[in-house]
Amino acid sequence: EQALQQGVAVTRYEPGQDENHLRELKLVSDLHSAIRHGGLHMNYQPKLDNRTGQLLQVEALVRWIHPELGFISPEEFIFLAEQSGQIHDLTDHILQRVADDARAWFNAGLDAGVAINLSAMDLTWPALTDRVASIFGGWHHNMARITLEVTESALMDDPEEAMATLNRLRDLGVTLSVDDFGTGYSSLSQLRKLPVQELKIDKSFVLKLNSEPQDQLIVKSTIDMAHGLGLKVVAEGIENLATWKLLQTWGCDLGQGFYLSRPVSADDLAQTAVALAERQLDLAEIMPEHSS
Ligand code: C2E
Ligand code: MG
Ligand code: MG
Ligand code: MG
Repeated sequence: EQALQQGVAVTRYEPGQDENHLRELKLVSDLHSAIRHGGLHMNYQPKLDNRTGQLLQVEALVRWIHPELGFISPEEFIFLAEQSGQIHDLTDHILQRVADDARAWFNAGLDAGVAINLSAMDLTWPALTDRVASIFGGWHHNMARITLEVTESALMDDPEEAMATLNRLRDLGVTLSVDDFGTGYSSLSQLRKLPVQELKIDKSFVLKLNSEPQDQLIVKSTIDMAHGLGLKVVAEGIENLATWKLLQTWGCDLGQGFYLSRPVSADDLAQTAVALAERQLDLAEIMPEHSS
């Protein structure tokens, strides 16, 4: 992964790098056809109301099962899409897939918003706002149920440009979220100026929250700070009940993680929603203070 981040040109002279380079070339070319011929699909991971356990949104996560190489992590192929000039095609494709899936679950009576990840490079894509507006064009009052997640580091690459893009997206009525918060270097004053409504605490602070006092300090003060700025706070990477309870105690608004639900296919989402609703009833019995 580190090698990937240093870039193809630098790493291909190291031993074993010829193979890696070939793999990358193959992936870049196969990704091109996967985008065009339905080789990618979306998974959806629930984001729950921490107080009530209610399913509020799902995060769309792109998946690529390569016919020969098997599962390719989105971090790997999104990086390659960025390097090979395919990222906007990929984002466009994802927006369309998600719009189709979400329309189907709305029509089936499932009331969950959807969050979509943008690449850092999408913030400088001139057509972005128009594409979002046209793909989600018929949604009108449902626009706020679409959240766009942008990583903190993407926002800090070029804060002026990011601000202009976010303002245009905000004018469409979509909700904006700062993803992976805590891994970049944004200051409070920079964050305050951005037209965002949600902050997602990076999972590196959450994964071992129940056993790491320093993470507890960071997460607790991040929640307070974000609330002070009027933002909703999401914690990602909740892997156990003890962690979820701490976050509930500190007033963290939304939770996401394998303990609550794994990412599932669009087809399995309705069933997952039912299972979560049943768990919500259990929760009300066990922890009455957490029911609405
Ligand atoms: P992200 O946006 O921060 O997404 C959350 C990641 O954390 C997902 O990994 C999710 O599966 C994982 N996760 C959720 N709960 C837990 C947990 O309890 N424990 C652990 N260990 N992990 C958990 P995934 O799907 O591999 O995606 C990785 C990253 O790739 C995403 O991070 C995002 O930056 C990028 N990505 C994924 N899908 C898309 C997409 O459609 N478009 C773009 N531009 N980027 C995407
Ligand atoms: Mg995300
Ligand atoms: Mg994240
Ligand atoms: Mg991430």
